[in-house]
Amino acid sequence: MTGSNRIKPDDIQKWDNDHVFHPWESMGTDDADLGIINAASGIYMTDPDGRRMIDGPGGMWCVNIGHGRAEMAKAISDQASKLGYSSPWTSATKPSSILARRIAEKTPGDLNTVFFTTGGSSAVDTALRFVHFYNNIKGRPEKKITIAREKGYHGSTYLSASVSGKERDRKFLDTNKDMVRFLPNVNPYIRPEGMSIEAWRDEKLADLENMILATGPEKVAAFIAEPILASGGVIVPPEGYHKGCLEICRKYDVLYISDEVVTGFGRLGHWFASQEVFGITPDIITCAKGLTSGYVPMGAAIFSDSLLADIQDENNGDILFSNGYTYSGHPVSAAAALKNMDIIEEENLLRHVREITPHFQARLKELGNRHRIIGDARGMGLLGCLEGAAAPGSPESIKLPIDLEFGHRMDVATEKRGLLVRPIINMCVFSPPLVITKEEIDTMFDILDEAIAEVQAEMMP
Ligand code: PLP
Repeated sequence: MTGSNRIKPDDIQKWDNDHVFHPWESMGTDDADLGIINAASGIYMTDPDGRRMIDGPGGMWCVNIGHGRAEMAKAISDQASKLGYSSPWTSATKPSSILARRIAEKTPGDLNTVFFTTGGSSAVDTALRFVHFYNNIKGRPEKKITIAREKGYHGSTYLSASVSGKERDRKFLDTNKDMVRFLPNVNPYIRPEGMSIEAWRDEKLADLENMILATGPEKVAAFIAEPILASGGVIVPPEGYHKGCLEICRKYDVLYISDEVVTGFGRLGHWFASQEVFGITPDIITCAKGLTSGYVPMGAAIFSDSLLADIQDENNGDILFSNGYTYSGHPVSAAAALKNMDIIEEENLLRHVREITPHFQARLKELGNRHRIIGDARGMGLLGCLEGAAAPGSPESIKLPIDLEFGHRMDVATEKRGLLVRPIINMCVFSPPLVITKEEIDTMFDILDEAIAEVQAEMMP
């Protein structure tokens, strides 16, 4: 192979098109060039021409401490030099044990036992496999069904994809349908005209209770929910929704899995959002992404002591939780996660997010009020979504978008102005690095403002 300094951007694009099979890749025959990113620093990503763009999605909801941190690179390098790998089956390591203890200090209630995974999907997979294991040990093997929600996203392994409720993703890939039931979309934006948000919440809570009753509580093992449905379009459920869901779960002996892969590690201004923002202590929390700020892969499923105590017994010594990964608790990933937590603490990033959030959300709402083409501008913390307006006459419960291409058009219009967003059909979403300043937020929303005006002029002249 030629020396890397002789490799041209065109080569990279060609080799990528010819040989890299990307997530969610289209089976069409046109190779759509994905932009090449050469480098990144702070909230900016740089293309091969040296053009800097704001990283609106924060990588993929993950680069919480920002890009290009020299101290993070050093922590990774130091750990790789000292101990690059050791089997989690047969050994404990300093970074993974310190990290588990530190995570346990941040979680609510008695969620003190951390199962390390390779990312979010494997964290959710581990949580669901544990629930099955738990009920098998408890002698109720029929209690296996998970209740999940339309528009939820929990991952791409067979089991985590089976509990994900984004219709388009399920069309040509098989999932396990026997083990899952889906609840209707909880998005307040689609509630019927005139219905109060409280009435909408009560209807959504009734959906959960009715589903448990219709399925049979003796068959329902768990309810899984993202505190905010991120990939589904930053759907913020009505106030009191999660508390209500937890009460229903407790009533029918159903375990609550809070999927904090996006909301964990600062996105809403707290280490975890379940208790601090939504007032619930679930049985299991899953996390990933912000755990290492995306520098290296790692995830975790965190279990409550009481759940484990329930199945631990002096006679159960032969029962093994036969689930795990070669890279569970990887020392280099654990060292990166520890450095990530140090940075979040030393730079007071959680407080920064709480302080900057009102400005971020106010600028987001403003866009919704100013442009006809925006149907809904919603978000929480440093999470935002712009949804294209519904076509006139479309039923409230569906809100057919005026243009399915809205997300794509926004992507093009913002990128040429120096901002990357994540397009999702008729929406675009963003979750910038938590280190973003007030001035940078203003730059980001000024670009969005101009881009929306351009897209509106094209589509709603
Ligand atoms: N859970 C949630 C809420 C997510 O948003 C994601 C990814 O976007 C996952 C799980 C899957 O995580 P990963 O892509 O690291 O496997």
